[in-house]
Amino acid sequence: MSAPTGRITAVDTYDIRFPTSRELDGSDAMNPDPDYSAAYVVLRTEGGGPEGHGFTFTIGRGNDVQVAAVDALRDHVVGRSVAGLCADPGSLYRDLIGDSQLRWLGPEKGVMHMAIGAVVNAVWDLAARCEGKPLWRLLADADPAWLVSQIDFRYLTDALTPEEALALLSKGKQGAAGRTAELLRRGYPAYTTSPGWLGYSDEKLTRLARQAVAEGFTQIKLKVGADLDDDIRRCRAARAAVGPGIRMAVDANQRWDVGEAVAWTKALAEFDPYWIEEPTSPDDVLGHAAVRRGVHPVKVATGEHVQNRVVFKQLLQAGAVDVLQLDAARVAGVNENLAILLLAAKFGVPVCPHAGGVGLCELVQHLSMFDYVALTGTTEDRVIEYVDHLHQHFLDPVVITDGHYRAPASPGFSSAMHRASIDAYTYPHGTFWAADAASGEPGTDTEVHA
Ligand SMILES: [Mg+2]
Repeated sequence: MSAPTGRITAVDTYDIRFPTSRELDGSDAMNPDPDYSAAYVVLRTEGGGPEGHGFTFTIGRGNDVQVAAVDALRDHVVGRSVAGLCADPGSLYRDLIGDSQLRWLGPEKGVMHMAIGAVVNAVWDLAARCEGKPLWRLLADADPAWLVSQIDFRYLTDALTPEEALALLSKGKQGAAGRTAELLRRGYPAYTTSPGWLGYSDEKLTRLARQAVAEGFTQIKLKVGADLDDDIRRCRAARAAVGPGIRMAVDANQRWDVGEAVAWTKALAEFDPYWIEEPTSPDDVLGHAAVRRGVHPVKVATGEHVQNRVVFKQLLQAGAVDVLQLDAARVAGVNENLAILLLAAKFGVPVCPHAGGVGLCELVQHLSMFDYVALTGTTEDRVIEYVDHLHQHFLDPVVITDGHYRAPASPGFSSAMHRASIDAYTYPHGTFWAADAASGEPGTDTEVHA
């Protein structure tokens, strides 16, 4: 633990890409060949003090655009006092979303907003390192009034006021010590998407689904939406593999119009899907509400592409979702996700975060653990997505035991990657990509085990 001193001296950015498309890892109905990527940010501080690491996730082409968007924020960050940033990360968040010229590129949506998320998350990593705590504990220990001060309530007060947020957080503190002990003992429930990628064979699907149950998971997820006959066959195989007592979610990745979403989900009903995820456009609030009415009792889940707290507010107000899937790096970082967690708590909708990708499991576990310890106080019907990819590139990777995320103990946001991984997978001149281009043959992702 080091008391924060000095100023931010540099914002380093990296275009990091992994060749995941070559194994069809991550393949779904809308994204058949993703190369999981991170627009990665390192905040450096005076005198070689603690760094802050953050990133946002993309799936390949366009990661350079995402990095350019982070670069456009640099002048807001360099020269800031580290102590000031750590005491009030919200001050930078408000300045970034309020830049009147950059705001035209949103407002508060898309590439620019995700860039802000990467920078803001890097600040929270720095703050947690300076405090000597994992981020979940920094948030859980924080004064409720200070947490409220970190939230931008603009556009929210018809659904959630600062006074209501303060009441929720104050109530959330009651019994927090006992829940911290329980979290450290048991961890936080996870579900796994690893068996269900669309590009996997039925044999691989069946083998991985059985393996998931043997490893202690009580929920799996399958990608659907490309071909109905294939989906029926795959859902049948997966249900047979896991038995009736395991929850099986399905995920269409925005593939359908509203009517098709209802019809397709009903055609899979005999396999008892627990939720249908991203049935249609993430912007279509009323469409989600119609799907929810049409597919009941199958639940409707969405969030990984929901662009900001305002759309989440509307999804909740419209009764359009049963499960809210916030993403640690889609919106403007921890500050906006605090607002989203509070909205979900106010409306009584469980949060089951989106994860996977590059490092999203590492990030989002902190938000769910805070929610359990110091906001909603429950893990009932709550699970964090888990995907078994690319964790070896992180200094403090997630640990899963018996279907649960272990609570991180190291200071920070678990967001820092190994230097060797950055050097190998920076595109296009990192050692992996340079060798790949020189060989003329597509390589695999096995060269670096940092
Ligand atoms: Mg999904």
